Amino acid sequence: MLKVNEIFYSIQGESGYAGLPCVFIRLTGCNLRCDYCDTAYAYDEGEDLPVSEILERVKSYNCQLVEITGGEPLLQRETPGLATALLQEGYQVLVETNGSKDIDILPDGAICIMDIKCPGSGEATQMDWDNLNRLKSGDQVKFVLTDENDYLWANTHLSGIPERVDVFLSPVQGKLDPAQLAEWMLMDRVRGHLHLQLHKILWPDEERGV
Ligand code: SF4
Repeated sequence: MLKVNEIFYSIQGESGYAGLPCVFIRLTGCNLRCDYCDTAYAYDEGEDLPVSEILERVKSYNCQLVEITGGEPLLQRETPGLATALLQEGYQVLVETNGSKDIDILPDGAICIMDIKCPGSGEATQMDWDNLNRLKSGDQVKFVLTDENDYLWANTHLSGIPERVDVFLSPVQGKLDPAQLAEWMLMDRVRGHLHLQLHKILWPDEERGV
């Protein structure tokens, strides 16, 4: 049984899969409290569902790309089993995690999209840095940036990210101007993609289900 906050179908707004239709399974609960968190409603709210029921709901959307997100999905003991069940059904499975929990518990076929929490989040000390060595080819890392200090901090950590992993730098909407971030990245010839949260551009007034 997993505690599920919401299951919905939308455009993938984060990561290298941005722009693709995707089914999202948002699991309840998070061990962090980032200053800019936009999913605080997922901290506690949710219903207990067996994996079989989650699979049924996912199937109803007729979409092959599925993301398990949160909250922090690696907090729930049955999350690896859910990812495995989805893979066995032939889905492409993304798991978005905050970087504080051991990602090795995920099955090999799942693609990990891992945040590295910068100082502006207020949770940078919670990072499990051993996760960098656990990332597989095809996994992705995302720095969410609130200001120049976060950008400079991220830059000092870029050399530690394995070459097999794609890197994304994402400005927090309303806190850091994307054009400013683009200028810094060009000036410093940064290894990484400038990343905008597509779902917030498409649906700026929606808080849930996007
Ligand atoms: S890790 Fe994600 S869900 Fe948890 S507090 Fe931070 S932004 Fe919110």
